[in-house]
Amino acid sequence: MTLEEARARVEELRRQIEYHDYRYYVLDDPEIEDAEYDQLMRALIELESAFPELVTPDSPTQRVGGQPRADLPAVRHRAPMLSLANAFTEADLRDFDRRVRAALPGEPVEYVVELKFDGVAVSLTYQDGRFVQGATRGDGETGEDVTPNLRTLRSLPLRLRVASPGTLEVRGEVYMTKKAFARLNEQREEAGLPLFANPRNGAAGSLRQLDPRKTAERCLDLWVYGIGYAEGLRFGRHSEALAWLREAGFRVNEHIRTLATVDDVLEYIDWWRDRRFTLPYVIDGLVIKVDRLDQQERLGATLKSPRWAVAFKYPPEQAETTVEDIIIRVGRTGVLTPTAVFRPVQLAGTTVSRAALHNEDLIRAKDIRIGDRVVIHKAGDIIPEVLRSRPELRTGAEREFTMPDNCPECGTRASRVAGEAGVYCPNVACPARLRESILHFVSRGAMDINGLGPAVIQQLLDRGLVADPADLYTLTREDLVGLERVGPKLADKLLAAIQKSKENSLARLIVALGIRHVGERAAQLLAERFGSLAELMAADRDELMAVPDIGPKIADSVINFFAREENRRVVEKLVAAGVNTVEKRSAVTPNGPLAGKSFVLTGKLEEFTRHEAGEIIKKLGGRVVSSVSRHTDYVVVGRDPGSKYDKAVKLGVRILTEPEFKRLIANQTP
Ligand code: NAD
Repeated sequence: MTLEEARARVEELRRQIEYHDYRYYVLDDPEIEDAEYDQLMRALIELESAFPELVTPDSPTQRVGGQPRADLPAVRHRAPMLSLANAFTEADLRDFDRRVRAALPGEPVEYVVELKFDGVAVSLTYQDGRFVQGATRGDGETGEDVTPNLRTLRSLPLRLRVASPGTLEVRGEVYMTKKAFARLNEQREEAGLPLFANPRNGAAGSLRQLDPRKTAERCLDLWVYGIGYAEGLRFGRHSEALAWLREAGFRVNEHIRTLATVDDVLEYIDWWRDRRFTLPYVIDGLVIKVDRLDQQERLGATLKSPRWAVAFKYPPEQAETTVEDIIIRVGRTGVLTPTAVFRPVQLAGTTVSRAALHNEDLIRAKDIRIGDRVVIHKAGDIIPEVLRSRPELRTGAEREFTMPDNCPECGTRASRVAGEAGVYCPNVACPARLRESILHFVSRGAMDINGLGPAVIQQLLDRGLVADPADLYTLTREDLVGLERVGPKLADKLLAAIQKSKENSLARLIVALGIRHVGERAAQLLAERFGSLAELMAADRDELMAVPDIGPKIADSVINFFAREENRRVVEKLVAAGVNTVEKRSAVTPNGPLAGKSFVLTGKLEEFTRHEAGEIIKKLGGRVVSSVSRHTDYVVVGRDPGSKYDKAVKLGVRILTEPEFKRLIANQTP
């Protein structure tokens, strides 16, 4: 290749990479797979090292990430937030090890190996142990201020559990679990919104919101993996810093290993290769870091990434299979979803035989036909998705798909919502919609009635034994024993499970009702605030929106749901059947270290709200009671305590000041 040819190719690659950076970092809406992007970057790195005169400071190989969003306030990082160099093969990793050891001749080197969480990097600033600011990585020098959004993360400590004078900047990854991602996309599909490509984009889109309530609705979580800047702390090793962070109250992942040789590292990489699919969150590889901080310092960094760390990335999991059919699935809200049925194939830990194709436009855009060979993957390691078809393998026997005009289950003419790609069955009594809503009612996050699968529910519907979810509670043993493949033993088991579900929490019941946009978290908030289904039904829009983290969309959806006659009737039947509709005291950890201990809180605490202190006690197994008696174990006393303090003194109940209380809980936390 001549210099001129190389220059043209380098330009072309940079243009492509910049375009994909923009889609990925700014819009949170990538067009290509990470592995494809990594290939472009690799090609550019190789060309630039063959023709070093072509390297410019603005090349994507020399820069971190993307532009920060202009409508979020900017934050300058105290120490740059860098990217990581990649290793894709054993040879790449051995090269890294050789480079490290060559730069540290004769010194022993140990590596800390961590999971590489696929989320959004954040920097969290603490002033004298209090959380004061949080930012995204941005371009590495300047990030976006997302402090109010980060405050909504329950796993982010607002105050540290150990003394930390001065300024501390902690680094970590905000992520979305696979489950939360699947649920978010389900809700977005229902609402006709574009889907997130993977949990990383879901997390980034949710964190970089102007309205923190939106962030709060999305169930984000946090892993902390390092310190960017610390005024009052000194550590010798990265592993010591991690141990301190854990003690300080941060979520530090448990799968961290300190390993002495590159062979051990490779073995650990291999160990996770298939097991990673069983994690509740997505990792796209492992991060290998030199443990000793003095060695890190001597190794230094390039403009883009430290020389003391490398990210090992697993190859993407893809499979090829044949589309045997495209069928229509009717959802609980009536959405008709074309779904590809495949020849079953092994992919990322499970056998895959179906994938939603979402709508006709998308099927056209990807040119997927019945009979086609297709390449599939799992978005976020869980949701099967067709990446592309292989038209070059067509035989001529393939058929194009057209969306039917009518609901395939009830024959009602399907309708299209203006401006949305989706098609709906408008018939509220559509048997498919009914079946799906009952399946939702009994599902895991909802009433969790074990054993009631699609086959049993279909039969119950066919025989007219149930016409809505509340009818499940009037089923008799005879009703069930009459069904195909249901013997007396299974019938009893099902009845017991149905019976048991009556005791479920109010939050579960709210989830089970299937109110649009109301997932587990919103249901929990509503249950906590209103305390009973009757109160929730009586709430008006303003009262609903007064609940922190409940926005207008959820509020309207709740109002609309209970405005419908048929929904109110179901609720009446549930009440009549004896289903629990009130919020019980929130769950305590039965075997926690404070199990059996009762606490009374009085006065104003410095570091916790009463609610927070109560939650901590409950988490450790204790109970919070409202009045002091001889049976009370502890009275926690803050500033300006009330009469409870006097009573505790009189009865000789053990009194804890706030520092004593803190010590007690610190000693109890596992
Ligand atoms: P990176 O994601 O490869 O690695 C750096 C990041 O890893 C850090 O910023 C941090 O957020 C994260 N990380 C996770 N766990 C960590 C741990 N335990 N310790 C330290 N860091 C940890 O690099 P990047 O610069 O953030 O992004 C580049 C990657 O993003 C590319 O390799 C590509 O996969 C993807 N990307 C894709 C597109 C696309 O269009 N599909 C576009 C741009 C970038």
